[in-house]
Amino acid sequence: MRYVSTRGQAPVLDFEQAMMTGLARDGGLYLPETVPAMTRDQIAALAGLRYEEVALRVVTPYIGDSFTQDELRGAIARAYAGFDHVSRAPLIELAPGHHLLELFHGPTLAFKDFAMQLIGQLFQLALKRSGQRVAILGATSGDTGSAAIEAFRGLDNVDVFIMYPHGRVSEVQRRQMSTPADANVHALAVDGNFDDCQARLKDLFNDHGFRDEVGLAGVNSINWARVLAQIVYYFTAATSLGAPAREIDFTVPTGNFGDILAGSIAKQMGLPIGRLVVATNQNDILHRALSTGEYRVGTVAPSISPSMDIQVSSNFERALWLAYGRDGSAIGQLMEELKSGGFTISQGALEHLRETYVSGRASEAETSAMIATIREETGQVICPHTAVAVKVAREHIRAGVPMISLATAHPAKFPDAVEDAVGIRPPLPPHMADLFARDERITRIANDAEAIKSLILERRTA
Ligand SMILES: *Cc1c(COP(=O)(O)O)cnc(C)c1O
Repeated sequence: MRYVSTRGQAPVLDFEQAMMTGLARDGGLYLPETVPAMTRDQIAALAGLRYEEVALRVVTPYIGDSFTQDELRGAIARAYAGFDHVSRAPLIELAPGHHLLELFHGPTLAFKDFAMQLIGQLFQLALKRSGQRVAILGATSGDTGSAAIEAFRGLDNVDVFIMYPHGRVSEVQRRQMSTPADANVHALAVDGNFDDCQARLKDLFNDHGFRDEVGLAGVNSINWARVLAQIVYYFTAATSLGAPAREIDFTVPTGNFGDILAGSIAKQMGLPIGRLVVATNQNDILHRALSTGEYRVGTVAPSISPSMDIQVSSNFERALWLAYGRDGSAIGQLMEELKSGGFTISQGALEHLRETYVSGRASEAETSAMIATIREETGQVICPHTAVAVKVAREHIRAGVPMISLATAHPAKFPDAVEDAVGIRPPLPPHMADLFARDERITRIANDAEAIKSLILERRTA
């Protein structure tokens, strides 16, 4: 399997190289040259299998010679062993025809664990083989950072540096990043918002001298391996409701477009997904882009669903590349225009996007009201990101087509928003019950690429 960059100017890589590289050297994102198809029979055979077995079958065609089947099987087993639900990604019925896919049973209580735990295992295999050392650099709106730290803490040949926007993550999120005592963990509170963190990340990756000197590796959802791991639960969920014999719709609470892009790849592989519904909070650039064709960057307004507080949505570049017929120079040009505030999606590309995606938004009040509604109707307490999805999903349910909304985080990760909505503070699961008693370690840092570079050079142990 060969991986190519969305901007067409970076070397073609194999899976392991694409995983270790993260962001392509031309500033683009890697995607497989062709998406492997699964036959109807192969998809039907997934129904009822264990999550780990489905993962092995879905992921294998993308790996090429990078890992043996035994290595991959072992990595998948270790990645999901720590999840506290036997199904890994259980599906529950919310209302007739509307289901919730619970993706928060991993160690840090958000869906990011699905990809990060696997990528942690695959990095270890690759680094052991090569003897290489790396500095992992991530930007987070909260959940990616804690998931990455959990996946890489304590490893010999890895330092993990996570930038998050100072004051803009929930206390649980911050503590998950600041309390691991391992010397190779570095939580950086950046004076800026999440888009600033992502911009600094790109600055450092685009400084090729620095990148090579410290062995910079990226585990944000710009990393193809992240997207790949997330394809799996679309298969487990859809086949448990009768796919491939019937069509299934999904609604995904969306920020950086990684999770929903994984759904679109599942669809390209042959899974009969009807519609993928992009659900945004008040930071609705994606909803505006899909409704009007204008991708215009506004300012981020902090919300009660902070993991979706974003204006520049990295993985949307991958969807654009597919919609523009894999034309790297067209994408390069759009991204150039983005530097001065935005671009217009061509009519052809917009039509292509609309064949797969529809969209909607939820305001702060609507999000909060939906947490309360779901509690009244079902007794379930959902997190604010999930509430955004459920609100938008309800507007897009089609007769006879099951709708699956992705529940991306555990409500205990966002206790303030939940308490405001329903008057109760959901308790943390037992393995995290003492989170508020643990010591924190945080480095406050300016929104400045040079300052961040110096800190990495000074602190790295690997
Ligand atoms: C990251 C995250 C999202 C958004 O996912 P993307 O892949 O960035 O679109 C939604 N909800 C939660 C809880 C998250 O952590």
